[in-house]
Amino acid sequence: MHINDAVFLEDLCPKFRFRQWRKSIHRFTGKSCIYCGKPSESIDHVIPRSQGGLSTTENCVPACLSCNGDKSDENALYWYRRQKFYDPRRAMAIRAWLEGDLRLAIRLLQWANPNFKVKNKNYEKDEPEYKAA
Ligand SMILES: [Zn+2]
Repeated sequence: MHINDAVFLEDLCPKFRFRQWRKSIHRFTGKSCIYCGKPSESIDHVIPRSQGGLSTTENCVPACLSCNGDKSDENALYWYRRQKFYDPRRAMAIRAWLEGDLRLAIRLLQWANPNFKVKNKNYEKDEPEYKAA
């Protein structure tokens, strides 16, 4: 598919755009939960929507269902600190993600998990498109 066609299609069909955006979020971490490193099955709001958190890339992280469900409506940074699998490098990654510095976040996650692989190497190039979502 030509890149211009993709943009056109996304403008016409917000659902398609949303799906692409969700996919891109999981791709940033190689489909692993930002909190515990298990396979990510959901998107979690770092700052819950009930506390004014937005559905932007900066506030949405890949999470496994267990973390997402357990965290519930809590601020992720506070919740994460109490977990058995707490890793300060991941905490820093979550903070960087929240500040929109995905590059730093991914680097910190790689540091926390040496087996971590980013499947999409072009994430920097793609970023502005996803930010607009
Ligand atoms: Zn998890």
